[in-house]
Amino acid sequence: MRIGRVARLRVGRRVPAKRVGPGRLGQGVREESVLQRKTGRETSGQPKAGRASSGHEPRSRLSSSLAALLASVVIALGTAGALQAEPVTGQGPLLAYGMRIAGDDARTRVVVDFDRKPDIFVHYVDNPPRVIVDLPETSFGVKPEDAQARGLFKDIRFGAMGASSARIVLTATKPVEITVADVKTDDGGKSFRLVLDAERVEKKRFAELLIEQTWTGSVALTKAPRVDEPAPASSDFVIAVDAGHGGIDTGAIGVDTKMEEKAVTLAFAKELAETLNREPGIKAVLTRDDDEFLSLSERVLIARQKQAKLFISLHADTLKQHDIRGATVYTISDKASDHLAASLAERENLSDQLAGVPLADEPAEVADILIDLTRRETQAFSVNLARSIITSFEGQINLINNPHRFAGFQVLRAADVPSILLELGFMSNTDDEKLLVDPAWRKKVSERIAAAVRRYRGGAMADGG
Ligand SMILES: [Zn+2]
Repeated sequence: MRIGRVARLRVGRRVPAKRVGPGRLGQGVREESVLQRKTGRETSGQPKAGRASSGHEPRSRLSSSLAALLASVVIALGTAGALQAEPVTGQGPLLAYGMRIAGDDARTRVVVDFDRKPDIFVHYVDNPPRVIVDLPETSFGVKPEDAQARGLFKDIRFGAMGASSARIVLTATKPVEITVADVKTDDGGKSFRLVLDAERVEKKRFAELLIEQTWTGSVALTKAPRVDEPAPASSDFVIAVDAGHGGIDTGAIGVDTKMEEKAVTLAFAKELAETLNREPGIKAVLTRDDDEFLSLSERVLIARQKQAKLFISLHADTLKQHDIRGATVYTISDKASDHLAASLAERENLSDQLAGVPLADEPAEVADILIDLTRRETQAFSVNLARSIITSFEGQINLINNPHRFAGFQVLRAADVPSILLELGFMSNTDDEKLLVDPAWRKKVSERIAAAVRRYRGGAMADGG
């Protein structure tokens, strides 16, 4: 494949056979110009000639023998999509220390500076059209003002995916094609520049690109099941504590502290799990215990794998109205209780999209009366827990008006695990923000939640649950 081909030709290394990539991605003028520089000849079959920045490259006729040579190189390299130029070994994560974006709504160039040669894998995801750059473990020291989306891109994020992978997600305003994906060496090999050129294309072309690419959509996302933790004893009342957001998905940003929601929720989740684990018969498990990305369905899956009897997702979002503060407990519902709940659920449900997770094919709703009954029963338990938490908070922890709200949060959709989403407070409110980063407050709230769980268990057991 062309991206890999350029890199390989330039650095003269072999592409690992199993690294396969998207069909025509990266095929473009920059690549052509590289080939031209290499060979001094024009390459054949380059459909984008002159449309990108290197259109000024000199051209000459391509001899048939060279064409044959190039063809054999392409065959030899197969469809490798990885720009794996230098193996990254034993040096810790890559450092991405700079980013520049320029262009308009016809063409946009994104440049990322790295300290070492990055091994990149570029592919597309639809709904909305996104360009994903998968990377090995990478620390991002990019200034937010340098990563402002513009031109063809309306959103740019980057961050950790799993323990050893990172990703840049470029969400496009219109269907795009990456015509150039190239890594260049600067400064005598001291720094490396990833150059991505995007061009606006028709919907039809984007659909072709999606079909042509060989990316399966699950490489970087699916983490190995955690086998390090012993399975909870069957008598334990398991509670899945879910720290919202993580990795590439930072969540909200505090107005004063600039703290990221993903860090606030993780610190809180750890405290809550510890507090719950002090309760006899309770075993709290964390969906994540690190700064890593989990898709919404992975969170639900982990809870079910751990045979959780409760799922508590922790958040601390922002609102436009900075004066609104206090905790909210959400349960799932097709119809939102109010506008605030609806918009919050909408934003939370964007997590997968922002991280470049393709829209999952939702399993068709089975018209099964048993599932329906389970769902209803689960819903009743979820509501009981929500009420119990509110009772436990009253007079102790700040609550929003109407603190029990509901909306279509995807992370709460397990049919058989009672689930709530707890907005601890709002990072958009100065007073809430101070509390959210205060260990003493975390401890107090965790204890109130543990008390609520105790009461819930008492009630659930009395009801035979
Ligand atoms: Zn959140």
